[in-house]
Amino acid sequence: MAEEKDLYPFGSAPLNKRRELLVVPLERKLVYEEVVFPKTGFARIVKRGQYFRIVDVMGKQVADLVLFNAHNTKEKHNNGISMSRQMRPEEVKPGVPYSRKSILTTRDIIFSTGERPMATIVADTPVPGGTHTLVGHMCNRAIYEMYGFSDHDGCWEILSGVLAPFGISPEELPDAFNVFMNVEYEAVSGERHIKEPVSRPGDYFEIRLEMDCIVAFSNCPEDALTPCNGWRCTPLKVEIYEAIEGK
Ligand SMILES: [Zn+2]
Repeated sequence: MAEEKDLYPFGSAPLNKRRELLVVPLERKLVYEEVVFPKTGFARIVKRGQYFRIVDVMGKQVADLVLFNAHNTKEKHNNGISMSRQMRPEEVKPGVPYSRKSILTTRDIIFSTGERPMATIVADTPVPGGTHTLVGHMCNRAIYEMYGFSDHDGCWEILSGVLAPFGISPEELPDAFNVFMNVEYEAVSGERHIKEPVSRPGDYFEIRLEMDCIVAFSNCPEDALTPCNGWRCTPLKVEIYEAIEGK
C-alpha cells in the first residue's frame, strides 16, 4: 500500500502530514500474541512500524502502559507532552489560540520526554473513544497499605518487576498511560472520581510504534478500593502485527 510506505522514515515529516498519511494496512500478519493474566505484567521490545494491540478480553479491565526507547531508556513516554501536542492542522495558525487536550484517541500521538513521536494510536474501540486516564500516579503497595491491605502489589510493583530485566529501575517509571481507565473530573472542586471502564468484552486499543520501544504494562490489580476494574481483575491479551511486505 503506497500510502503506508510514505510513513517511513517518519522523522522529518511534519506532524500534520503524518496524520493525513495515517493508514493501517488491510493485510497484516500476527507476529506475536500472549494472554496477560490478572495481576501480572508484560514487557517486550516492539519494533518501529509494528502494531501493538491490547485486547480487553472480558471488558472493564485497565492496563497501565509505559513506553521506553529501546536504545536509550532515559527517553520514555510523557503524558504531559502528549496532551500538549495534539493540535489539529486547522488550529496551527498565527492568531488562533494554542489549545491543549486531555483526551487522546485514534490518530493522536504519544510523545516522548525527548519531544519525539513514540507511537500513534490507530484503534480505540470502546465507546466513547479516548476513555483513558493520563493524569495521576498508578496504584502501589503504599496506597493499599493505607487502606489495610498489607500484602497487595500495585501496578508500580508489577511494572517494576517486568522491566527489571531491561535494566530499568522502579524510580525511572513514568506515570502510565492508563488504557481503558475511566476517571470523571470535577472542574470546580478539582476532585477525580474513578468509574468503571466503558470497555466491553473484545474492545481493543492499538498503537503503531514510531521508534523501537520497550512496551510494558501492568494488568491493573486494583479490585479493593474503587470500581477501576469493575471490582474484578480479568485477563488482557496482547497482539502484535506487522505489515506484509509489498501490501
Ligand atoms: Zn493499578
